Amino acid sequence: MNDERLTNLRHSCAHLMAAAVMELWPHARRTIGPSIENGFYFDFDFGDSKITDGDLPHIEAKMHEILPGWKNFERHELDTDAAKKKYPGNVYKYELIDEFAAEGQKLTFYKSGQYWDLCRGGHVEHPDRELKHFKLLSLAGAYWRGNEKNKMLTRIYGTVFPTKKELEDHLNMLEEAKKRDHRKIGPALELFMFHQTSPGMPYWLPNGLIIYNELVKFWREDHVKRGYKEIASPLINKKELYVTSGHFEHYWENMFISKTADEGEYGIKAMNCPNAHVVFGSKTRSYRDLPLRLSDTDTLHRYELSGTLNGLLRVREFRQDDAHIYVTEDQIVSEYLEVFEIIKRFYSIFNIPYSFRLGTRNPDNFMGEISTWDKAEASLKEILEKSGVEYFVLEGDGAFYGPKVDILMKDVLGREWQMGTVQLDFQQPLRFKLEYIDKDGQGKTPICIHRVVYGSLERFIGILIEHFAGVFPVWLSPVQVVVLPISDKHSGYAKKVQEQLMGKGIRSELDSRNEPLNARIRDAQLQKIPYMLVVGDNEIKNSTVSERGRSGKNYGEIKTNKFIADIKEEIASRSLS
Ligand SMILES: [Zn+2]
Ligand SMILES: [Zn+2]
Repeated sequence: MNDERLTNLRHSCAHLMAAAVMELWPHARRTIGPSIENGFYFDFDFGDSKITDGDLPHIEAKMHEILPGWKNFERHELDTDAAKKKYPGNVYKYELIDEFAAEGQKLTFYKSGQYWDLCRGGHVEHPDRELKHFKLLSLAGAYWRGNEKNKMLTRIYGTVFPTKKELEDHLNMLEEAKKRDHRKIGPALELFMFHQTSPGMPYWLPNGLIIYNELVKFWREDHVKRGYKEIASPLINKKELYVTSGHFEHYWENMFISKTADEGEYGIKAMNCPNAHVVFGSKTRSYRDLPLRLSDTDTLHRYELSGTLNGLLRVREFRQDDAHIYVTEDQIVSEYLEVFEIIKRFYSIFNIPYSFRLGTRNPDNFMGEISTWDKAEASLKEILEKSGVEYFVLEGDGAFYGPKVDILMKDVLGREWQMGTVQLDFQQPLRFKLEYIDKDGQGKTPICIHRVVYGSLERFIGILIEHFAGVFPVWLSPVQVVVLPISDKHSGYAKKVQEQLMGKGIRSELDSRNEPLNARIRDAQLQKIPYMLVVGDNEIKNSTVSERGRSGKNYGEIKTNKFIADIKEEIASRSLS
């Protein structure tokens, strides 16, 4: 089924749900009911009535009852007065009707069975046959038109699929996603937390910071080998820096601003580019210095609306595995191919499938000459073809300074996430008057490639938590090994083993609590610790440990030194097993 047909199916089902709600709560005032990714919603003002999750099955039953009478969607045109009469006392619809009328739009209504609604269209042809496989999912509060100054409405979410099988698969996926929700696993494994005084800004707890630092370490090691040079720069800069970069004009409202007593406004860093350009421009550069790859992972802040914050997936404070690469025009292709190699390497480490999406010029928000854009877009298409990775084009999705290639990854549940991005920028180097001295002794403007591979580390970790359901590969596991003495008299040996592990840089703990061994094994499994080493009389006698995996597998007795060599190898190779 193509996207448009799915959209029509979902939106049609929103009509059906509203019809059922209006029969059950005739005084409710209905507002709008669009299709969304994987489903639809409808917003209602229920007045004094309170509805709960327990009402959803009643609404579903009513929908099934009404559905056989819905043979089609019948189109009608009405004038403003007649339209308003359809919605006695519904101020929301009046507002919409007046707006559509003022824009000179025709007021179209669609009727199915006994139900009418103001709508622009986009429905299925045979609702009675096509809308059978739906499910209502949840309730939420939502401000009318998304504005918190308006009244809070009740939003009902649902989903619908062309077949029973697709609906069931989707519902199973949602169940599994719930179990994997990083907002639950994160606090349970003590990875991160939030506090009401800093919405959207994670606190990294010791376990989570280990994962964070391991990801940065891997990034750093790999990029040093590839000739990247890491910098760090101020977190706040005077407004003038952002005037130069164009962010003052295009992005200021999304930034946190710091006011000073007598130096005007400072912008709190929301992106690394401007300061990278300052570093590039700080000395005379030669063509021999290019490509110059300046990387950094400074902390960024962006003012996301509070209603859009979502665990680690949408935050206000984050770091990126960022880099700005300054190249000559004939280095673009080879540098892109190199960046695509890095992406391949990073995503294969996690065994995550990915694809590319090319975002082109947004006609309403861009800097520079159209001809430059056309050239850049054409060369990116050529590079994407060459790279052999699956890609598609999203028109108008470019950054304001240049086209971009986004990395989309698919997690284990088949959900697609936008991760890193590679952006081609002809504009900012000009604005910052960046220059290198070319072979002919002339000053020329470099081109900048902005690139992140993980994207935001916060978001990447949020998705990794859900992808692995908290069962991280050993190299990322906050605790890699726990040593479990069978009884008190084995504690001394257990402690020695654990110290030996620590001495080899293996993150390990000793659990000699006065609890039955089975209970301690269960606790270690709940914490998803990859290896449990049980020690008793035999192990002491043989200088061994008895190795167990977190899945419950018993590997048996192994020489302690051999275990250490094996796990060190597993960590060093960043193996997934
Ligand atoms: Zn409609
Ligand atoms: Zn940048």
